[in-house]
Amino acid sequence: QKQNRTPLIAGNWKMNLDHLQAIAFVQKLAWSLKDAGHNFADVEAAIFPPFTDLRSVQTLVSADKLELAYGAQDVSQHASGAYTGEISGSFLKQLDCRYVIIGHSERRTLHAETDEIVAAKTAAAIANGIVPIICVGETADDLENHGPSAVPVAQLTAALSSVQSASDIVVAYEPVWAIGSGQAATPEQAEAVCAALRGVLESALGSDVAAKTRILYGGSVKSTNIGGFMKQPNVDGALVGGASLDLAEFASIIRYQK
Ligand code: PGA
Repeated sequence: QKQNRTPLIAGNWKMNLDHLQAIAFVQKLAWSLKDAGHNFADVEAAIFPPFTDLRSVQTLVSADKLELAYGAQDVSQHASGAYTGEISGSFLKQLDCRYVIIGHSERRTLHAETDEIVAAKTAAAIANGIVPIICVGETADDLENHGPSAVPVAQLTAALSSVQSASDIVVAYEPVWAIGSGQAATPEQAEAVCAALRGVLESALGSDVAAKTRILYGGSVKSTNIGGFMKQPNVDGALVGGASLDLAEFASIIRYQK
């Protein structure tokens, strides 16, 4: 079953690298993957730069016919109108974004994104033909009080509540305590929660969708621990923060040993 899911390694740049730095980085990354003989059909790679970089990345990727995918770090739940500072899904689609990250823990915590907002943004991405990468994950307190999968399961259930049918979505399990901490979950911890999340997909969207949906692990992923995660039957890739800003390191995560 896992063979039917193309692994996805996604680099979340967060608020790093302006559009000029993005152009240089993407060029170098593409060349380094090409030199290494990377086959994007084996392992898909995607980057998530700040909004202001996306037009430059689109221009470069299309001019050089790069196979690297890209997307945005957030999307508005609204289609257009009086929403100062927001970016709509149709704008992202115009920039050929294949993906959009939704409900990252930093947005939930620092920008007060509720499960309802995450659900609305998920629906907005799908309505615009952009694949949502729905982020879920428990804090250290949640882990202590509710165990490992209760909060991620509840968050994914809520995010999918407005989705009637979706053939293409991605889920990212990111324990908040593992993000940027240098303390990744163990492969076994990640597998247990990702298996529970696949169960949520099955009840919400059916077994066909559940079987083909990629579930990523995120939180202090590095070239030295990616292999262990990728061996797990329910982990289909990684959402990488800090390590995605180091070109050689990100390239070697994409080129992990199977
Ligand atoms: P990290 O971040 O890899 O720096 O832990 C992951 C994320 O926030 O997506």
